[in-house]
Amino acid sequence: MTVQKTIQIGNPKLRQVCEDVSFPLSEQDIQLGYDLVDTMDSAGLVGEAAVQIGVMKRVFVMGLEKEKKDESDENEFELCICYNPTITQFSDKKEFGREGCGSIAYGKLFGQVERPKSIELEYYDRTGQKHVKKFDGLFARIAQHEIDHLDGILFLDRMDDPTQLYDIDELPRKTDDHTE
Ligand SMILES: [Zn+2]
Repeated sequence: MTVQKTIQIGNPKLRQVCEDVSFPLSEQDIQLGYDLVDTMDSAGLVGEAAVQIGVMKRVFVMGLEKEKKDESDENEFELCICYNPTITQFSDKKEFGREGCGSIAYGKLFGQVERPKSIELEYYDRTGQKHVKKFDGLFARIAQHEIDHLDGILFLDRMDDPTQLYDIDELPRKTDDHTE
Protein backbone atom coordinates (compact mmCIF):
# COMPACT_ATOMS: atom_id res chain seq x y z
CA MET A 1 0.00 0.00 0.00
CA THR A 2 1.48 3.29 -1.09
CA VAL A 3 -0.35 6.38 0.00
CA GLN A 4 0.90 9.50 -1.77
CA LYS A 5 0.61 13.13 -0.76
CA THR A 6 -2.35 14.94 -2.37
CA ILE A 7 -1.20 18.31 -3.72
CA GLN A 8 -3.29 21.40 -2.97
CA ILE A 9 -4.79 24.27 -4.96
CA GLY A 10 -2.11 26.83 -5.73
CA ASN A 11 0.24 24.12 -6.95
CA PRO A 12 0.66 24.95 -10.67
CA LYS A 13 0.42 21.27 -11.63
CA LEU A 14 -3.32 21.36 -10.86
CA ARG A 15 -3.72 23.88 -13.70
CA GLN A 16 -1.91 21.91 -16.38
CA VAL A 17 -3.24 19.49 -18.99
CA CYS A 18 -2.18 15.88 -18.43
CA GLU A 19 -0.86 13.55 -21.12
CA ASP A 20 -2.14 10.19 -22.31
CA VAL A 21 -0.36 7.04 -21.17
CA SER A 22 0.81 4.59 -23.82
CA PHE A 23 0.12 0.86 -23.98
CA PRO A 24 1.33 -1.62 -22.97
CA LEU A 25 1.55 0.18 -19.65
CA SER A 26 4.88 0.43 -17.88
CA GLU A 27 5.16 -1.12 -14.41
CA GLN A 28 5.23 2.45 -13.14
CA ASP A 29 1.90 3.31 -14.77
CA ILE A 30 0.27 0.15 -13.40
CA GLN A 31 1.58 1.00 -9.93
CA LEU A 32 0.23 4.53 -10.37
CA GLY A 33 -3.32 3.12 -10.55
CA TYR A 34 -2.87 1.18 -7.32
CA ASP A 35 -1.28 4.15 -5.56
CA LEU A 36 -4.26 6.28 -6.56
CA VAL A 37 -6.67 3.73 -5.07
CA ASP A 38 -4.67 3.59 -1.82
CA THR A 39 -4.43 7.38 -1.63
CA MET A 40 -8.14 7.82 -2.37
CA ASP A 41 -9.14 5.26 0.26
CA SER A 42 -6.85 6.62 2.95
CA ALA A 43 -8.20 10.14 2.45
CA GLY A 44 -11.83 8.92 2.44
CA LEU A 45 -12.41 10.26 -1.07
CA VAL A 46 -14.55 8.77 -3.86
CA GLY A 47 -12.24 9.75 -6.71
CA GLU A 48 -8.63 10.75 -7.29
CA ALA A 49 -6.77 11.85 -10.41
CA ALA A 50 -3.06 11.21 -11.03
CA VAL A 51 -2.31 14.94 -11.12
CA GLN A 52 -3.48 15.16 -7.50
CA ILE A 53 -0.45 13.10 -6.51
CA GLY A 54 1.70 15.15 -8.86
CA VAL A 55 1.78 12.76 -11.85
CA MET A 56 0.81 14.50 -15.11
CA LYS A 57 -0.89 11.53 -16.78
CA ARG A 58 -4.48 10.94 -17.88
CA VAL A 59 -5.39 8.43 -15.20
CA PHE A 60 -8.04 8.56 -12.50
CA VAL A 61 -9.75 6.19 -10.09
CA MET A 62 -13.24 6.30 -8.68
CA GLY A 63 -15.17 4.16 -6.28
CA LEU A 64 -17.09 4.13 -3.10
CA GLU A 65 -15.68 2.72 0.09
CA LYS A 66 -17.71 -0.39 0.82
CA GLU A 67 -18.79 0.75 4.28
CA LYS A 68 -20.18 3.96 2.77
CA LYS A 69 -22.14 2.18 0.10
CA ASP A 70 -25.86 2.44 0.53
CA GLU A 71 -27.86 -0.79 0.21
CA SER A 72 -30.31 0.91 -2.10
CA ASP A 73 -27.54 2.09 -4.43
CA GLU A 74 -28.37 0.71 -7.85
CA ASN A 75 -24.84 1.10 -9.14
CA GLU A 76 -23.11 -2.26 -9.20
CA PHE A 77 -19.91 -0.40 -9.71
CA GLU A 78 -17.45 -0.30 -6.86
CA LEU A 79 -14.00 0.61 -8.12
CA CYS A 80 -12.64 1.69 -11.47
CA ILE A 81 -9.08 2.51 -12.55
CA CYS A 82 -9.38 4.50 -15.77
CA TYR A 83 -6.50 5.12 -18.20
CA ASN A 84 -6.87 7.68 -21.01
CA PRO A 85 -10.55 8.35 -20.19
CA THR A 86 -12.80 10.45 -22.38
CA ILE A 87 -16.46 11.34 -22.11
CA THR A 88 -18.12 10.45 -25.39
CA GLN A 89 -21.68 11.55 -24.51
CA PHE A 90 -23.27 14.03 -22.12
CA SER A 91 -26.98 14.09 -21.30
CA ASP A 92 -28.87 17.29 -22.07
CA LYS A 93 -30.37 17.07 -18.62
CA LYS A 94 -28.24 18.75 -15.97
CA GLU A 95 -28.46 18.75 -12.21
CA PHE A 96 -26.83 20.48 -9.27
CA GLY A 97 -24.87 18.44 -6.76
CA ARG A 98 -22.49 19.11 -3.93
CA GLU A 99 -18.80 18.51 -4.61
CA GLY A 100 -15.63 18.62 -2.61
CA CYS A 101 -12.05 17.96 -3.69
CA GLY A 102 -9.08 16.40 -1.92
CA SER A 103 -6.92 19.15 -3.49
CA ILE A 104 -9.04 22.02 -2.14
CA ALA A 105 -8.68 22.55 1.62
CA TYR A 106 -7.99 18.80 1.92
CA GLY A 107 -11.59 18.02 0.95
CA LYS A 108 -13.11 20.23 3.63
CA LEU A 109 -14.73 22.76 1.29
CA PHE A 110 -17.92 21.93 -0.62
CA GLY A 111 -19.80 23.69 -3.39
CA GLN A 112 -22.86 23.27 -5.59
CA VAL A 113 -21.90 22.43 -9.16
CA GLU A 114 -24.22 21.96 -12.12
CA ARG A 115 -23.23 19.15 -14.50
CA PRO A 116 -24.87 16.85 -17.05
CA LYS A 117 -26.77 14.17 -15.16
CA SER A 118 -25.49 11.20 -17.15
CA ILE A 119 -22.54 10.46 -19.40
CA GLU A 120 -20.93 7.77 -21.46
CA LEU A 121 -17.33 7.17 -20.43
CA GLU A 122 -14.72 5.51 -22.58
CA TYR A 123 -11.50 4.36 -20.90
CA TYR A 124 -8.84 1.68 -20.93
CA ASP A 125 -8.02 -0.69 -18.10
CA ARG A 126 -4.49 -1.65 -17.09
CA THR A 127 -4.40 -4.51 -19.60
CA GLY A 128 -5.18 -2.10 -22.44
CA GLN A 129 -8.74 -3.29 -22.90
CA LYS A 130 -11.20 -0.58 -23.88
CA HIS A 131 -14.42 -0.10 -21.92
CA VAL A 132 -17.45 2.03 -22.71
CA LYS A 133 -19.86 2.54 -19.80
CA LYS A 134 -22.82 4.73 -19.06
CA PHE A 135 -22.99 6.43 -15.68
CA ASP A 136 -25.79 8.37 -14.08
CA GLY A 137 -25.91 10.57 -11.00
CA LEU A 138 -23.03 10.27 -8.54
CA PHE A 139 -20.62 8.32 -10.74
CA ALA A 140 -21.32 10.57 -13.72
CA ARG A 141 -20.46 13.51 -11.49
CA ILE A 142 -17.28 11.92 -10.13
CA ALA A 143 -16.05 11.02 -13.63
CA GLN A 144 -16.65 14.58 -14.86
CA HIS A 145 -14.89 16.04 -11.82
CA GLU A 146 -11.87 13.75 -12.33
CA ILE A 147 -11.61 14.34 -16.07
CA ASP A 148 -11.71 18.07 -15.33
CA HIS A 149 -8.61 17.48 -13.19
CA LEU A 150 -6.84 15.98 -16.22
CA ASP A 151 -7.52 19.23 -18.06
CA GLY A 152 -6.44 21.56 -15.26
CA ILE A 153 -9.99 22.46 -14.20
CA LEU A 154 -11.21 22.51 -10.58
CA PHE A 155 -14.82 22.37 -9.36
CA LEU A 156 -14.56 25.97 -8.15
CA ASP A 157 -14.25 27.01 -11.83
CA ARG A 158 -17.62 25.35 -12.54
CA MET A 159 -19.50 27.18 -9.78
CA ASP A 160 -21.81 29.99 -10.87
CA ASP A 161 -22.67 31.06 -7.35
CA PRO A 162 -19.80 31.45 -4.85
CA THR A 163 -22.29 31.91 -2.02
CA GLN A 164 -22.97 28.16 -2.35
CA LEU A 165 -19.55 27.29 -0.96
CA TYR A 166 -19.39 25.73 2.50
CA ASP A 167 -16.77 24.62 4.94
CA ILE A 168 -17.42 21.10 6.18
CA ASP A 169 -18.34 22.50 9.62
CA GLU A 170 -21.00 24.76 8.12
CA LEU A 171 -22.68 22.39 5.70
CA PRO A 172 -26.46 22.51 5.39
CA ARG A 173 -27.67 18.98 6.09
CA LYS A 174 -27.88 16.93 2.95
CA THR A 175 -27.40 13.27 2.21
CA ASP A 176 -25.06 13.12 -0.78
CA ASP A 177 -21.76 14.42 0.54
CA HIS A 178 -18.81 13.11 -1.38
CA THR A 179 -15.35 14.38 -1.94
CA GLU A 180 -13.37 13.81 -5.09
ZN1 LIG B 1 -10.89 16.88 -7.09
